[in-house]
Amino acid sequence: MTFRKRTVEDVDPRGKRVLVRVDFNVPLNDAGAVADDTRIRAALPTIRVLLKGGAAIGLVSHLGRPAGRDPKLSLAPIAKRLGELLGRAVPLLPDSVGPEMKKAVRALAPGGIVLLENVRFHPEEEKNDPAFARELAEGFDIYVNDAFGTAHRAHASTEGVAHVLPAYAGLLLKKELEALGGILEDPAKPFLAIIGGAKVSTKMDVLRSLVPRVDALAIGGGMANTFLLARGLSVGRSLAEPDRVTEARLVTDDVEGNGKELLLPVDVLAAPSADADGAAGAAVYEVDEVPAHLAIVDIGPRTIDRYAQVIRRAKTIFWNGPVGVFEVPAFASGTRQVARLLAESGAVTVVGGGESVQAVEEAGLADKMTHVSTGGGAALELIEGKTLPGVAAIPDR
Ligand code: ADP
Ligand code: MG
Repeated sequence: MTFRKRTVEDVDPRGKRVLVRVDFNVPLNDAGAVADDTRIRAALPTIRVLLKGGAAIGLVSHLGRPAGRDPKLSLAPIAKRLGELLGRAVPLLPDSVGPEMKKAVRALAPGGIVLLENVRFHPEEEKNDPAFARELAEGFDIYVNDAFGTAHRAHASTEGVAHVLPAYAGLLLKKELEALGGILEDPAKPFLAIIGGAKVSTKMDVLRSLVPRVDALAIGGGMANTFLLARGLSVGRSLAEPDRVTEARLVTDDVEGNGKELLLPVDVLAAPSADADGAAGAAVYEVDEVPAHLAIVDIGPRTIDRYAQVIRRAKTIFWNGPVGVFEVPAFASGTRQVARLLAESGAVTVVGGGESVQAVEEAGLADKMTHVSTGGGAALELIEGKTLPGVAAIPDR
């Protein structure tokens, strides 16, 4: 898929002051240090290309959901980690707007870099306040958006400022759109989608978008239970959404009526509860024999075998949503095996979502996939066919 937006590759940044929106909304540990720096590392190519090109850059990001200024959500630990990754200190400015910020940006020499403090300390950010967007732009010549994980939000730093400064896409934004957009536009066939996760209700738009494009659809996780209900099966005490049975039936008919393969679990791991306490009482059952007092917590080994056959044939695989309660090690087998099967397949493999990406990373298999998205909600909205405001605001080439 060709990416049509202007990117950092289309501009000579020499001598320019560049405001770069990155997604440094990373998890912190109890000590307040960066617990997972995936998103920081993902922004390095854009940062490096701009510095090498002779730009001076100010990085802007949000972290968490502060209600006003909150020292616990300062970007200080991120400035420290970024400095380690770049091998040079990255000063953190005390604010994202205001006279001090303007002065510091003016003082930046080519090749200089600063990080602005959490942009969400200002409520105007999420309101996409035009005056705030203009304040953010103060002192900068151009704007680069590399924050894919926030591109589905029309905020001042992701959307508003693109109307104030000449706007360009960063390399991560481009990579994400090419990988996820490629899945939608021209996937090599056969195209398999594996959709898991907790609830059908949050994935219905994803399913609706994917069903016409896929050759096979595998459904696992809690959401499979609603599909089993739609087949007339009982799911005991499993997580399920009886009010979504009709929708599940429509998806089923749509897939099967068009001669495509729908893989629902044929066997499952069921337990007295979906937490660690349930592990001792867990056992594998055929899908039509799940006891009324148990809850489905993972797909079973025969289901995995069927997945494996379809995965082996596929040329493109999109995976979103764990197929079991993978947070409990005893219920993580299905999800771990899906990750391994994808890693071993020769297909184009694209993983998007929050927990599914976490599962791939925990399995240490992220670098075996064609693309692991850094955007949870943004990746899903893209797959749903929605326009991402942060992308739409960047002019075409
Ligand atoms: P993603 O973030 O990858 O899009 P979701 O947010 O939709 O995925 O769902 C992730 C959650 O789904 C996980 O926390 C997992 O525990 C839960 N889940 C998976 N299978 C089941 C199941 N059988 N019963 C209950 N919850 C499940
Ligand atoms: Mg999630």
